Amino acid sequence: MTDLLVVGSGFFGLTVARECAERFGMQVTVIDQRDHPGGNAWSYADADTGIEVHRYGAHLFHTSNARVWDYVNRFTAFTPYVHRVYTNVGGEVFPMPINLGTINQFFRAAYGPDDARRLVEEQSRELEGLPVDNLERKAISLIGRPLYEAFIKGYTAKQWQTDPTELPPDIISRLPVRYTYDNRYFSDTWEGLPVDGYTAWIERMLDHPGITLELGTDFLADEGPWTKASTVGQVPVVFTGALDRYFGYDEGDLGWRTLDFETEVVPVGDFQGTPVMNYGDADVPYTRIHEFRHFHPERADRYPTDRSVIVREHSRFASRGDEPYYPVNTPADRERLLAYRALADRERGVWFGGRLGTYKYLDMHMAIGSALVMVDNELAPALGR
Ligand code: FAD
Ligand code: UDP
Repeated sequence: MTDLLVVGSGFFGLTVARECAERFGMQVTVIDQRDHPGGNAWSYADADTGIEVHRYGAHLFHTSNARVWDYVNRFTAFTPYVHRVYTNVGGEVFPMPINLGTINQFFRAAYGPDDARRLVEEQSRELEGLPVDNLERKAISLIGRPLYEAFIKGYTAKQWQTDPTELPPDIISRLPVRYTYDNRYFSDTWEGLPVDGYTAWIERMLDHPGITLELGTDFLADEGPWTKASTVGQVPVVFTGALDRYFGYDEGDLGWRTLDFETEVVPVGDFQGTPVMNYGDADVPYTRIHEFRHFHPERADRYPTDRSVIVREHSRFASRGDEPYYPVNTPADRERLLAYRALADRERGVWFGGRLGTYKYLDMHMAIGSALVMVDNELAPALGR
């Protein structure tokens, strides 16, 4: 007997399942079409080196939400890792996100914070009177055109393959611009990586007698015990898969970006001296290289000194068969999304959540936070005991 079916075992689905099992004593079945749980946060130990590799791209945990921080600490401890990124542009390496160090290195100058602010203000004057309603204008308003063209334009073209005037401004607002030498990538109160890896954390969330996990099970398949056709209307469903696919793409395809990961074990103990190096130039085919050993300096004595795992990340538009990773969110996408939301509102007994189910860029802490809110505000009144 199942009281609730959760489709998708990413952090959204895991949080809903755990809360409903624990707080309401429900029997929850979690299904996932993949052969492992955890969604895109899943990681594995590389067979050759033992180095933990995040299968779907580097995952850095950070949050300023105290409820989420307390919640995740029930399942894992965190290392004191602080994320810092560098970017290779024109054969030179600069700190990212853009800070006083980046600005002074780029302009070969020694500006103080106020001089640098004045310079950027001058360089963004071309936008006076115009609405800051797309990525390009937002970036120029924040850093001026020369820095935009060096650090953002080429990288964004590779990452999104969409005219930056078509992209929403909030993509770039994720990156801080600082008039200090602080080059932390995130500005959140808490940050770190799970001490014994993402998979151990994911398994602890699933470890509850009220939770059953079924892998290799596609909810939108034609046949099987846990399909849309056989469950909707019979059992409450929380769906965290792709919204457009749920509705058979009736309102058109929502635009997604996917990534190709090119993994290589290189015969050196340290390839690039840092976890992530971005490549801002348009003629380098990948956007960044991850070197996974550097995410866990505290494991140095367990990792080999003569080999390292690097992953080059390539970005492209997703077709229907690809993994959808980042919502592109053009104005046309936003119109389609409204049509899908109207359909979702009429779908009785099904709750849509998570990155794919809401077509929103959600970080792990946002997925967990929004799942906790869905349990409190929607599932508890409807299903709670
Ligand atoms: P997901 O993790 O995508 O899980 C959804 C699950 O649903 C998947 O396992 C999928 O197989 C399953 N599913 C889909 N459709 C079906 C179906 N029809 N039937 C059965 N199962 C189905 N977050 C951070 O906080 N920091 C980071 O540094 C970070 N980096 C990221 C890098 C990349 C490349 C990506 C893609 C995401 C990153 N994230 C990061 C976000 C994070 O991976 C998750 O997207 C976030 O935790 C939201 O989780 P979710 O449960 O909504 O979705
Ligand atoms: N970005 C950029 N240059 C960089 C890093 C980021 O232009 O060196 C832009 C790019 O458009 C990217 C956005 O800033 O999509 C947000 O960057 P973030 O690192 O958050 O991207 P993610 O890790 O989510 O892919």
